[in-house]
Amino acid sequence: MTSTGPVAVVVPVYNEADVLPEFWTRLVAVFDRLDCDCEVIFVNDGSTDSSLEMLVALANADPRVSVLDLSRNFGKEIALTAGLDSVRGDAAIPIDADLQDPPEVIPQLVEKWREGFDMVYATRRSRSGESWHKRATAAAFYRILGRVSETADVPADTGDFRIIGRRALDAFCQMRERHRFLKGLFATVGFRTASILYDRDPRFAGQSKWNYRRLVMLSVEGITSHSIAPLRLATFLGIAVAFVAFVYAAWIVYKTLWFGDPVAGYPSLMTAILMLGGVQLTTLGIVGEYLGRVFNEVKGRPLYFVQRRWPQPEATED
Ligand code: UDP
Ligand code: MG
Repeated sequence: MTSTGPVAVVVPVYNEADVLPEFWTRLVAVFDRLDCDCEVIFVNDGSTDSSLEMLVALANADPRVSVLDLSRNFGKEIALTAGLDSVRGDAAIPIDADLQDPPEVIPQLVEKWREGFDMVYATRRSRSGESWHKRATAAAFYRILGRVSETADVPADTGDFRIIGRRALDAFCQMRERHRFLKGLFATVGFRTASILYDRDPRFAGQSKWNYRRLVMLSVEGITSHSIAPLRLATFLGIAVAFVAFVYAAWIVYKTLWFGDPVAGYPSLMTAILMLGGVQLTTLGIVGEYLGRVFNEVKGRPLYFVQRRWPQPEATED
């Protein structure tokens, strides 16, 4: 096995005080078995519990640990981006702090990456601890995204847990869009990819920050960031409605000419008006969704702000 440069594990942390000690114990056990330089970058995403103090204590005690403290809560996708931006090693491994992605899978990822792959996905074999409707909605979402996305084929049942080699990481870091659907961005990067299977565990402790609203938002993000198919929907709806209207108009003319027509038609009139109104508002909403994204992107604001770093920058050479 060839020896390779340092591998950085990147962990976004938002109110994970209940899990961090266990996470660290298991991660260190894995590091001890790995035959390469390892470091871990914790990104504190504006936690309001004692997570930051715990992380700083770790950074002070162990030179392999660095901590990036963001100025507020930016959300997982941006916290992870901040961590990935600061990776200097040969590869990065994003992992959740809640032990849903078992650190014990890391050696497999590293081994596969050393075979010469730029990105090795960890694909879930099972999703224990997740309800059937979460699994069903996730499956449906991946299928729809796979159908409509133009730039990337996002692998199903794959989270952010993976290993990203230097080349792929550099490519990823060049994509600075605000609306970040990371799985899609990773897929957009391309290069040589492979996958390994693992069993996703239930959350070790604490609360998932996800709820259905956030999942829906993430799905909208995923589709609108990687596809303009919804915009085309307006055209198809327009054509479909026009076609129905044409057939219906022909029928009315025919009926009036042959049978005469005492003034009837309030229901059909209302139906037509309401239906068209609904279709128009929906398509306007879709256009607005994209316009909003353009608005957010053109401002070109930085993705995140860093409050402090450990170890303190002046204390290191970098
Ligand atoms: N996370 C974060 N910022 C947030 C929400 C979550 O950094 O605003 C982190 C969280 O600490 C964890 C990971 O992202 O390490 C995954 O979060 P969670 O377990 O809540 O998501 P789920 O696994 O339910 O998708
Ligand atoms: Mg989780």
